[in-house]
Amino acid sequence: MCAEILSRFLGCTPGRGYPVRVILIGPRGSGKTTIGALLADTLGYRFFDTDAMVEAREGMSIPEIFAERGEPAFRLAESAAIKSLPLDSVVVATGGGAVISGSNVQALRTVSLTVFLDADATVLWARTQRSTRPPLTVLSPIEEITAIRNARLPLYRGAADLCIDTGVLSPAETVARILGFMEERRSGAVCNPFVAFLQQTRMSMNECEQIQKRLCGAKGMPLHGIFAVIGSPCLHSRSPELFTALFSACGVDGVYTRIDWPDISAIMDAVRAVGVKGLSVTIPFKTDGMQYCDEITADARAIGAVNTMVRCGDRWVGANTDWMGIRQPLAGILPGNAVVFGAGGAARAAVYALQDLGMEVTVLNRSLDGAQNLARSFGCEYGAFDSYNPEKTDVIVNATPVGMEGRGGSVLGPSDLRVHQTVFDLVYTPPGTILLKYARAAGCQCMQGTEMFVYQAQEQMRLFTGIDVDADLIREILG
Ligand code: NAP
Repeated sequence: MCAEILSRFLGCTPGRGYPVRVILIGPRGSGKTTIGALLADTLGYRFFDTDAMVEAREGMSIPEIFAERGEPAFRLAESAAIKSLPLDSVVVATGGGAVISGSNVQALRTVSLTVFLDADATVLWARTQRSTRPPLTVLSPIEEITAIRNARLPLYRGAADLCIDTGVLSPAETVARILGFMEERRSGAVCNPFVAFLQQTRMSMNECEQIQKRLCGAKGMPLHGIFAVIGSPCLHSRSPELFTALFSACGVDGVYTRIDWPDISAIMDAVRAVGVKGLSVTIPFKTDGMQYCDEITADARAIGAVNTMVRCGDRWVGANTDWMGIRQPLAGILPGNAVVFGAGGAARAAVYALQDLGMEVTVLNRSLDGAQNLARSFGCEYGAFDSYNPEKTDVIVNATPVGMEGRGGSVLGPSDLRVHQTVFDLVYTPPGTILLKYARAAGCQCMQGTEMFVYQAQEQMRLFTGIDVDADLIREILG
């Protein structure tokens, strides 16, 4: 059923060429209901409003549901309404908080084009002044609108195939913009110059041909767009294999490729021209990538690197999920004293993650200058390797390449480790390093570098698509 519907959108049925469902997401006051009704009318589709569906189902208004049963009951009813939507020719306006749930987003995106309608907080406030909806916080209305919109922005951006500022367009202009985007996706007209660029990179001709078939064939461009890892070198990256499998598991109709090229400026020109949705950023572009972002998240700014870029409209948002990859595996550990070996990019992410977990961090590095610079940025202690004191260290993170395949070695010996310690070796080839062998023998809690990759990818998937995937699914794909 889904495949048939999808193939109809992708242009297999002559004369059609529009998606089965168009889902409108965005904050209250962004125009979802007005624009949705107009779009449905234009396309000859049925129109659904999930808030109205919840009210009809529950037999009471949304303010009454909030007052009598609370927000969790409303969210449950909203999820049920979303799951009951037909996989048919419909336009759907969703409630502002529908994107909070990753499973809602996954259900909404099935065979659908998702459009994020946004507007400045003052425009949203002016449009919702006469609303009877209950406040969700104790803030003033304008403060609440601003705070909720900002908190949900990464979710809206991740879930969206198209982002439109309705503050500067009339409803008719917004509808025209959506129809124009559908036509662009259907025709795939913008993809040939992108494939020509890929042919200049270090991608094999065979792989280029496969990408060309997916992007420029008779079926038009993938519904949910193009994603890529960019770096030099990055042909060894496992991200294309991982995200291709995740997209397939979650019903995301996207192509994830790799761009191995030394010139980030040429890469950004090519990805802009074809409207790439998301980039995984690797060496050597994690710092340089920041200058191509219109907005950088606070964590990425503090760390001084982006490993993720997401496009929404004309804007690129830079984020950092590396630190989440270090924070998540350590999240259950009581705050204590942590030592980070190394002072490079991975060490910066580690210090940020450990401080976020409330740890007192000391940076130990081969060159003292590097340790001092990092310590100055984060207000922590620093020193040389020989200032390590096992009795005063609860958590150890190795953020140097020591222990990597071919190099061997360990930053610490067997006598440096204690049973109360947790050791996280960020080196992931091999997964079981000499440091972890010593740590296991000493009775320490051990974490492998592959876990950092798993959790940073989980967060990246959320930023790229708005969908939550289980860490076990990622582990399974990586094998
Ligand atoms: P980087 O920016 O090049 O920094 C390397 C750091 O390691 C520097 O502080 C350097 O010290 C130190 N170092 C290099 N060789 C050393 C040696 N022989 N002995 C002692 N210290 C040495 O690299 P990075 O991006 O931070 O990555 C560091 C490591 O983290 C990588 O090699 C990789 O294994 C791991 N990593 C893992 C993941 C993952 O997903 N698991 C992700 C990223 C990185 P100086 O300042 O003295 O040169």
